[in-house]
Parts: sequence; C-alpha cells; structure tokens
Amino acid sequence: MQISQGPLGGAAAPSEWFTGDAWIAPVVETGRARTEVDSVRFAPGSRTVWHRHPLGQVLVVTEGAGRVQRRGGPVETIRAGDTVHVAPGEWHWHGAAPDRPMTHLAIEPVPDDGTSTEAGEPVADSEYHGGRVEDVPPVTRSVLLDQMLSPPRGTHRVEVRRITIAPRQAAGLHVHNGPVFGGIETGSAVYQIEGEAAAVLRPGDVFYEPEGARIARFDAEADGVTFLGYFLLDAGEAAEIEFPGR
Ligand code: MN
Repeated sequence: MQISQGPLGGAAAPSEWFTGDAWIAPVVETGRARTEVDSVRFAPGSRTVWHRHPLGQVLVVTEGAGRVQRRGGPVETIRAGDTVHVAPGEWHWHGAAPDRPMTHLAIEPVPDDGTSTEAGEPVADSEYHGGRVEDVPPVTRSVLLDQMLSPPRGTHRVEVRRITIAPRQAAGLHVHNGPVFGGIETGSAVYQIEGEAAAVLRPGDVFYEPEGARIARFDAEADGVTFLGYFLLDAGEAAEIEFPGR
C-alpha cells in the first residue's frame, strides 16, 4: 500500500498542450484497460489549450479553484468537489483560477480505434478572462457590508487577525469584548449567532458580530476554514474572548 498526502508531484506538462506551468501525475494506470485517470495540477493562471476528447472526459476537482469553458458557452468557475462531464467531441478547455491553483482528476475513456484527444489553439488571455481584455476593468469594488455599530463606538483601534480552524474543529460558544467583523478566505464553516439561524460561510462571505454577541457556532467543515477577523478596540484595550460554557 502506498499513501500519498496532498497533491501528487507529477511531471511537467508538455508546453504544446498547456499555457503556463502545469503538472500531470498518473493516478490509475490500467495498461490495456479502456480508461485513463490523471491528476492534473495547474498553477494560478495556467490552463489547457482548446481540445476535445473522442469519448468525452470527466473532471473531478480535488483542490483549489479553476475555470472551464465549452466552445460557445460562458467561462464557468469550478471548485474542489465539483465534477465536470465533457461530452464526446466537445471542444473545451480547463485550468486554474487567475489567483489560485487547481488540481483535478481527469478521467478519460480511450477508444480502441486509435483516435485520441485533439489539440486546438491556446486559450487567449481574453478568452480566459471571459471577454476581451480591454473589457476587464483593472479594479472592481463592491460593498459587502455597511454596518452601523450598536452600541455606537468611537473606534480608536482595529486589530486584524488571520484565524484558522482545523478541519471539523469547533470554536465553541464564545463572546468577544468588542464588535468583530470578518471575511472568509478559504474553506468553510457553519456559523451561528445564538438565537439566529445557522449559515455556512464560504470564501468571500463576510460577517458582523455585535459587541457582546454570543457566538454559538463557528465550526470548520471538512476543509477547515481560514478567515480575517477585524477586532474593534479602544486605545488601551486588548482583544479578549470568553467561553461561557467552559
Ligand atoms: Mn479536457
């Protein structure tokens, strides 16, 4: 038995098939059998060329976030856990997100008649970004939260912490001494302020905990969770956390 933890290493992918750095690691080698399974690891921004498979392909994203597009369709975002079914003969490409790596299993039936995957043109930056480059604004801004503080507070200080909760670990019922804002970076967590509905927070989600709020749940899911917490404090005040149940 061999156990491999984390991404498989793999060999550098051939440059005629990829733009940017990518690696291919064999996962199942079936000899004369009719299905190939590869783990393909893409650095941020890298992707395959346009191509098609005679009998189609199934992609299972095992890590990170990426993009996939079929000819004539929109650029779609894919994440760890997603599965993509590509139809036989359908032109498409797949790769990492611009700012995140992506690893997927590529499961591909191999026909007996000797036909194989056909490569086309590289995916241009403009295609990769889902439009013409000049249409992509250099900076985008969106208001995620516009929050009045109750009770009001003359903010002297904000402490920003990066906090990671290991997979399936729970913070437990807790109370902070001031208001806390946060935003999820990676992973996911079941989150609940006591007396309110539970919700799953995912990357990009933001939250606000009023001063003195009792946080009933901040339970990391299977992938753990990392978030930035912004702790509003007075000039000489330390960020404190109480666990009423302990
Ligand atoms: Mn493919």
